[in-house]
Amino acid sequence: MESLSVPVFVLDTHARVTIWNRACEQLTGVPALEVLGTGDHWRSFYDIQRPTLADLVLRTGCDPALAGEPAAAAVGDAARATPGLSIESWCDMPRAGRRRYLAADANPIFDASGQLSAVVETLRDLTDEKMAQAALEQLATRDGLTGLANRRCFDDTLQAEWARALRQVQPLSLLMVDVDNFKAYNDAHGHLGGDECLKRVARAVASEMRANDLVARYGGEEFAVVLPNQSLKGAAIVAERIRSRVEQLQLPCRFAAGHVTVSIGAATAIAGPDNHANQLVAIADAALYRAKHLGRNRISLPMTEAA
Ligand code: GH3
Ligand code: MG
Ligand code: MG
Repeated sequence: MESLSVPVFVLDTHARVTIWNRACEQLTGVPALEVLGTGDHWRSFYDIQRPTLADLVLRTGCDPALAGEPAAAAVGDAARATPGLSIESWCDMPRAGRRRYLAADANPIFDASGQLSAVVETLRDLTDEKMAQAALEQLATRDGLTGLANRRCFDDTLQAEWARALRQVQPLSLLMVDVDNFKAYNDAHGHLGGDECLKRVARAVASEMRANDLVARYGGEEFAVVLPNQSLKGAAIVAERIRSRVEQLQLPCRFAAGHVTVSIGAATAIAGPDNHANQLVAIADAALYRAKHLGRNRISLPMTEAA
């Protein structure tokens, strides 16, 4: 065990450390000499005292009441009654001074008569994998320019929220937010100026959201806002707040006297087995089209509420 490249420590039945290998020293920043023979191993992983996984296996294995089937314990077959445990979680690692994502496996060791004699815990540092996974998730679900949810994330969320609305018989609202005359803005300010404008509008839209709402970049200069459990009246209030907030940014337009504005189409549906989330998008789109037609910088509601 000492020469294993995997961090390992072993506890005896009194929860004292009997092995703390070099890899474990390196991971925790705690030398073996400091912990061997003590019950201080938890200090390597936690700020406040709490059992490690090995301690939990030990407690289960030493307490017949916790060890599972009484019949198995009665014949001394603790090997069958005491299961190993596994966990993955973030650990503060106070002595190493760095937060690491660890996978731990703790397993009992039995003597020839089947009595528990020790528990061995092996650790794997999965921090790099966890960070890479988080970065991939970020790439897969976020829009690179604005940091908002991307189109794919919007599609998935809309489907999930539709299913939830169906189960809970709750309304689901959607806003489609489109920057007015953005082609002209790009022509006047250049593409990079346009990008900067999109980022600021995105921040303004996102600032009006509640915890369960989702704002996504739907396409070029268009944003979609999913509002779970929101009536059309409530959606109209949110839409007006977004419209007014963007107007108040007073982002100057060189090609017109005014400032950057948005038009917003709203839609609300009570999900049913015979309608589909895409209908909500179509209705909000049609409302957006009307807002544009009526002169832009305004919100528009559907002619009739979706069934
Ligand atoms: P309307 O008021 O009817 O919405 O007119 P509009 O000019 O905003 O609409 P249109 O669809 O004609 O033009 C959208 C423009 O948005 C064209 C496209 O070049 C620009 N655009 C799309 N994505 C981006 C982007 O990521 N960055 C920048 N700078 N411009 C973008
Ligand atoms: Mg536009
Ligand atoms: Mg558009």
